[in-house]
Amino acid sequence: MDYFLPDSQDLVDPSFDFTKETRSPDRIRHRDDRYAHEIFKGRAFDGFLVSKGIVDSSGGTGRYTGPQRRRFDRDGVKRFFRAIGHPWGKLRFMGDCGAFTYVKEDVPPFSVDEVIEFYVRGRFDLGVSVDHIILDYNPEWDARPFGQSGVPQEILDRQTLTLTLAKEFLERANQEKSFIPMGVAQGWSPASYAHAVKALQKMGYTYIAIGGVVPLKTDKLVHMLSEVNAIRKRNVKLHLLGVTRLEKIVDFRSFGVASFDSTSPLRRAWLDAKVNYYTPDRTYTAIRVPQVDGNVRLQKRIRAGEVKQEHALAAEAKCLRYMAEFDAGKRAERSVVQALSDYEKIHDPGGDRTEVYREVLAARPWKDCSCEVCKSLGHHVILFRGAERNRRRGFHNIHVFYQQLKLELARPKRRVQVLREPEQGVLTI
Ligand SMILES: [Zn+2]
Repeated sequence: MDYFLPDSQDLVDPSFDFTKETRSPDRIRHRDDRYAHEIFKGRAFDGFLVSKGIVDSSGGTGRYTGPQRRRFDRDGVKRFFRAIGHPWGKLRFMGDCGAFTYVKEDVPPFSVDEVIEFYVRGRFDLGVSVDHIILDYNPEWDARPFGQSGVPQEILDRQTLTLTLAKEFLERANQEKSFIPMGVAQGWSPASYAHAVKALQKMGYTYIAIGGVVPLKTDKLVHMLSEVNAIRKRNVKLHLLGVTRLEKIVDFRSFGVASFDSTSPLRRAWLDAKVNYYTPDRTYTAIRVPQVDGNVRLQKRIRAGEVKQEHALAAEAKCLRYMAEFDAGKRAERSVVQALSDYEKIHDPGGDRTEVYREVLAARPWKDCSCEVCKSLGHHVILFRGAERNRRRGFHNIHVFYQQLKLELARPKRRVQVLREPEQGVLTI
């Protein structure tokens, strides 16, 4: 089972000094910053999912600058990501449209030709057909025969449009012959997904991506996939778009799921209120020590006269110093928790993370992790503070997640205690 990491240009600056919080003045972002696959010696994922909506849209959902886009066009996706001749071996690149970026539009903003052109230009290994996400999920609509149910017209239209575009896409992809085409199934229930997969198989697709399932609870996802599997041709593989549930990965494999993509190990490092740091058997909350200068909420309080700037700066500096001393074994946990709690009253009044901080400090999970991030960062990896730390913690999570994935897949009969992924995925646009 292959894990694809969705690209959002998540890189880290190797010149960043965590003690002084400075960067090398010679740093050139596109030359010096590093992707996750340039940080870890051992494999941490199998490929990238790169969306046209992220590469080609300027502003809004676009993450690429003009020069980056030109480099992407000139070099192709593999050279752009410095993935050619990579020590991990082959990294595969899957392209898609990034349908979440236009989920609110009536129709996708790209034509089939434009999307094919993007895949050919980028020299992708795999290309996903143009789709339009159906966010509603209601198996009760299946109570009546297909086509006579109470499914809203707009939802029916989205499925029909996705299938029509998939047919056109396959014909064009077969002419180009430069990447493996993947058809997208969109649906609102087990039967409607099965209907879409049947139609895509009939067109000739042998690799089918299941879309629109990010918000689905695990039991519903399993139920839907089991129904899809009942009509799946044996030579057809499935990909889960934007979702994984580690605890059910063995079931997914038995349903024909060959790959998936998910940003949640990465993004939860800084987007989740509680789950920020993965370990093989549980997760921890990162320790919030926001920068006084960069914290909008805190700056507002300072301007309103609720907090004195010098008090905030002193509390922040004390937390950083105490954490460093604690990591070096020179300070007791209790006084660190007190300092963190004092600063929390300033930057997040009303919040109380005393218990979770006590827990993570008692466990010191970063000391037990042998990944490159934890080895080089030490306690900085657990600090929720600035993109350089937060993103590296996300990289660490990807690494842990991938190890767990492989472990779980290697032991299908003896189920181990695995990290629980969220019931619902992290939606990122
Ligand atoms: Zn680590």
